[in-house]
Amino acid sequence: MTGLLIANIAHGLTGDAEGTRFSGAIRIRDGLIADMGNLRPEPGERVIDATGCVVTPGLVNTHHHLFQSVLKAVPEGMNAALDDWLMRVPYSYWPFIDAETLAVSARIGLAELVLSGATTVSDHHYIFSALYDYDPAEVLFDEAQRFGIRFLLARGGMTKGRAFDDPAVPPAPIETFDGFLTGIEQAADRWHDPSPLAMTRIASAPVTPCFNVEPQMLAEIAQHARARGLRLHAHLSENTGYAAYTERVHGKRPVPWLADHGWLGPDVWFAHLVDLTEGEVALLAETGAGMAHCPQANARLGSGIAPAEALFRLGGKVSMAVDGAGANEAADMGAALYSAFALHRATKGVGAVKAEALIHWATRGGAEVLGFDQTGLLAPGMAADIALFDLSHPRNFGLHDPALAPVLTGAAQVKHSFVGGRQIVEHGRIPGLDLAELAEDAARVTRRLSQKIREAGAEPLARTAHA
Ligand code: ZN
Repeated sequence: MTGLLIANIAHGLTGDAEGTRFSGAIRIRDGLIADMGNLRPEPGERVIDATGCVVTPGLVNTHHHLFQSVLKAVPEGMNAALDDWLMRVPYSYWPFIDAETLAVSARIGLAELVLSGATTVSDHHYIFSALYDYDPAEVLFDEAQRFGIRFLLARGGMTKGRAFDDPAVPPAPIETFDGFLTGIEQAADRWHDPSPLAMTRIASAPVTPCFNVEPQMLAEIAQHARARGLRLHAHLSENTGYAAYTERVHGKRPVPWLADHGWLGPDVWFAHLVDLTEGEVALLAETGAGMAHCPQANARLGSGIAPAEALFRLGGKVSMAVDGAGANEAADMGAALYSAFALHRATKGVGAVKAEALIHWATRGGAEVLGFDQTGLLAPGMAADIALFDLSHPRNFGLHDPALAPVLTGAAQVKHSFVGGRQIVEHGRIPGLDLAELAEDAARVTRRLSQKIREAGAEPLARTAHA
């Protein structure tokens, strides 16, 4: 591979927990950062000019649902809280997600993620059904490969669905326990690469442990995953209802309940964790279990604000995630960063979180949570996963400290980005992706979904969900 030099860096953040700044240049050789500092171009080296850019590690999105990028602003779900929204949006539409719909949806989400700085994405795909004539995992990995990102599939599924009062809502698709474990194994055999510079990985990820599997299965799921070197992931404590249900039915708060089943440790991360006691925050920090912080979806669904800053203060692992676009109309890393910055300070004061900490959560924090240990930090020997954010938008004019623009302006726009030294965004464009064509595909697929749900007579109105 020809050498590459990212030169003229005036505003750089390494991604470490201290918010360390740097300037100068980054030399890339064989997909790795070879050197940093005051470097001159060598003969034959390709030079990328970082003038007018902020340079950070590529951003890491640790929890998403790519199938929801064609389920934005579904009218019946716009003013619904979590349970109602789940029923009216994902659980009403899942039978109509065919292979093409999933591919277009993933393409929309990945385009937005990549253009807002992501270089690593973890997608929690939770709907696997024998009714599908395709493998959702295959569609998602194919799309991820087109974009050249590192992609971890948190392979979801459930053995127990939630019942809905309305017979027009199709029953949630479930698998047998053996079917679920076999599905994880097959995905791992095909895509799980344990090497430090892996492009594809699998995690074992039942949708929501308190609702979607039997308690006696949890320890076996954990053992099954660990025997194969897979991480564990799930939704947890997304709102007060989850914790109240777990206490009522399983007799404990969600975090200590999962601890009893071997579901805490440095190889586990949970999406949301909005409703936590101080004791639960401490238990997560002690065991090294990570948080995928999803401030936008939690705000849009009225779920609350996760105590991410409290977990971070105790030395716990915090990462940033956009969550499914069906619950926040966005897969934008900059919007997620700004939401977290604004929400924590609005409710807990200006000392709650610094912009530099948010960059860390979205870079090295995310890499540690997912176990991509050679990424997320700009230092010699690390993978050359690098984002150059464009400051040429008027929103970024007048900043005394431009390095913080990707957080403070809520408008993170990438000029160039690299995964393992390979360029995935060039002058603000994704090579090989025709955005006009994608816009047409999106409109067509969204129209078709809306038509299909009306034909099925599923007018998702006054329904209620129960576990
Ligand atoms: Zn989610």
